[in-house]
Amino acid sequence: MMGIIEKMRLDGKKAYVTGGARGIGKSIAIALAEAGADVAIVDVDIKEAEKTASEISELTAVKTLAVKTDVTKEDEVQKMVETIVKHFGKIDIAFNNAGICLNIPAAEMTLAQWQKVIDINLTGVFLTSQAAGKVMLKQGGGSIINTASMSAHIVNYPQPQVSYNASKAAVIQMSKSLAIEWAKSGVRVNTISPGYMGTELTLNSPELKPLIQQWESMSPLGRIGRPEELQAIAVYLAGDTSPFTTGSDFVIDGAFTAI
Ligand code: NAD
Repeated sequence: MMGIIEKMRLDGKKAYVTGGARGIGKSIAIALAEAGADVAIVDVDIKEAEKTASEISELTAVKTLAVKTDVTKEDEVQKMVETIVKHFGKIDIAFNNAGICLNIPAAEMTLAQWQKVIDINLTGVFLTSQAAGKVMLKQGGGSIINTASMSAHIVNYPQPQVSYNASKAAVIQMSKSLAIEWAKSGVRVNTISPGYMGTELTLNSPELKPLIQQWESMSPLGRIGRPEELQAIAVYLAGDTSPFTTGSDFVIDGAFTAI
């Protein structure tokens, strides 16, 4: 009899991860590949995406692909999905993770700055979910996982992140809506809401770097998270051991929002 760990393997499945070149996306792409899925690294930064794709090929036996895509551009997203289907034959797992953060006080924010965050974090996740969803509806199933944030549930403090917080709350509600629309077609849609994680987004941001000590002191665990700490939930949601899991949000934040 096949045990639960074997059942969780993703051998033969085809996946993509947006924002997969670095940070959380890269860590998730490694996990999916280690579990046996062929993985396309989708990113606007094609050089880094290619580097990540070859690193994964060296680490594992799976096929990888790097696809340059700006997730805010509908035509590029459409082309991305076509390229992946052409190379891999199908899409079983769509991890829509690309996102940015701008720390600007609300009173000073321009419409263009507001729009940029909403375009990438919300519209980009909708466009990629929609394009992958259409492929999955034809196939008769698939798993879409969208990266939200604990900022969908609490307001980050003291950094001013009005557009970020709003975009991430909307990602959860949008994903739940898709989960319900597509529930009977075997297409599942879930979100992961990470707490503070050590990635380029946080560690290399001049505004955020000085705040890390403060976040650590506010965290019940006394530290921020590591991208690897999201790998197991990603594999679980991607595979066949979670057929009853759809329309759910998974907060992985070291109890930060539990306070
Ligand atoms: P990161 O900055 O390290 O990586 C983001 C990747 O997305 C980069 O490779 C970048 O090139 C790519 N990207 C940006 N805009 C894009 C676009 N328009 N099209 C395609 N690719 C694009 O960020 P990260 O920390 O790994 O964050 C990944 C996701 O996790 C984001 O959605 C972020 O909001 C979310 N998140 C991060 C944290 C954290 O503390 N780091 C916490 C909660 C949620």
